[in-house]
Amino acid sequence: MNIILLAPPAAGKGTQAEILMNTYNLNHISTGDLLRKASQEESAFGRELKQIMESGNLVSDDIVLEVLNRYLDQTTNFNLLLDGFPRNIYQAKTLDKILEKKSQKIDYVFLLNVEKEILLNRIVGRRLCKSCGAIYNVGIDPLKPKVDSICDKCGNPLIARKDDNEKTFQIRYQEYETQTKPLIQYYQNQGVLYEIDSSISKEETFKQIELILKKDSQTDYKN
Ligand code: AMP
Repeated sequence: MNIILLAPPAAGKGTQAEILMNTYNLNHISTGDLLRKASQEESAFGRELKQIMESGNLVSDDIVLEVLNRYLDQTTNFNLLLDGFPRNIYQAKTLDKILEKKSQKIDYVFLLNVEKEILLNRIVGRRLCKSCGAIYNVGIDPLKPKVDSICDKCGNPLIARKDDNEKTFQIRYQEYETQTKPLIQYYQNQGVLYEIDSSISKEETFKQIELILKKDSQTDYKN
C-alpha cells in the first residue's frame, strides 16, 4: 500500500503522517525532512539548499529526486507514506516510473483541505521538537505544549521552523497553487484521490482517512 499526502503548507501532513505511521506499518518519507538534513551539510550545496528552503521556494526537481532515490535505493519496505512529494506533475510522472520498475503503484492520495486563513494562523504558531520531531501549536489549545517551549514527549526545547513566517508562507502557498494543485486532477484521473477535511482536529481528520482505508480492506476481503 503506497500513500501520498497532498496538501498546502501547514495543512497537517506531518501530523497525519505520524498518526498513520503509528497505526499501520508504513515507511514515512518526508522530502522536506530529507532536504533539511541534506541542507545541514557544511558545503556550498548545503548552504544553497538551506537558503532555497528558507525562502519558501521549491527545490529543483533534480535535487529532490536525487535525495529521494538515494533513500529508496536503501529501502525494502514498499508501504510508502509520501509526505511533501510529489510537488509537481514532473515529480508525479517520475514517481510513477520509479514505482512501476518495482512493480508498485500509488494506491491512495489523501488531499488535506484547509482554508488559507486557517493555514496562516497555524503556521505562525507551529513549533517542533528538534529532538523527536513532535509537532505543537502554541496558538491552538489542544496542540499547546504543557510547559511553554518544551516537548511534552522528550523534554527537549521546541523551535519554530525558519520558513514558518507569514512572508514565506505566502511564497509557499503560491508554489502550492501553481505547481502542486495540478496534481489533484492528475490523481483524480488515476482514480486514487480522496478529499479530507483537515480544518478540524487531528483525530477527526484521521478518522476520515481511516474510514477510507478500512472500507477498502473490507471490500478486498469480500472479494
Ligand atoms: P515541507 O517540509 O514539506 O513543508 O518542505 C519544506 C521545503 O522543502 C519546501 O518549501 C521546499 O523548499 C522543499 N521541498 C520539500 N519537498 C519538496 C519537493 N517534493 N519538491 C521541491 N521542493 C521540496
